Amino acid sequence: MDKLEKLQNKIKQFHLERDWSQFHSPENLAKSISIEAGELLECFQWNSEFDLEDLTDEMADVYIYLLDLADRIGVDLIDIADKKMDKNAIKYPVEKSKGKSDKYNKL
Ligand SMILES: [Mg+2]
Repeated sequence: MDKLEKLQNKIKQFHLERDWSQFHSPENLAKSISIEAGELLECFQWNSEFDLEDLTDEMADVYIYLLDLADRIGVDLIDIADKKMDKNAIKYPVEKSKGKSDKYNKL
């Protein structure tokens, strides 16, 4: 069993023991991802300094909810991220986007 599989099982067990899966509709999980992403941003609310433990806790919260949503809708998070990177490479060809932060429609 690899690290990801172990983590997925740990998350499932955590929810099972607490009977929390009933609350984890795709909609609720999407909202939770956004809430946790807000908490991630809160780590930088007043300056660019950050507490490493606070930051990594919030990164983990986002990741855990993403894994949960992927599981709930039956997709593999690694596969969909890999596929999206392929799409990004088409959207942002190196020759047009190198060294630029513009959105693809402004390149
Ligand atoms: Mg959090």
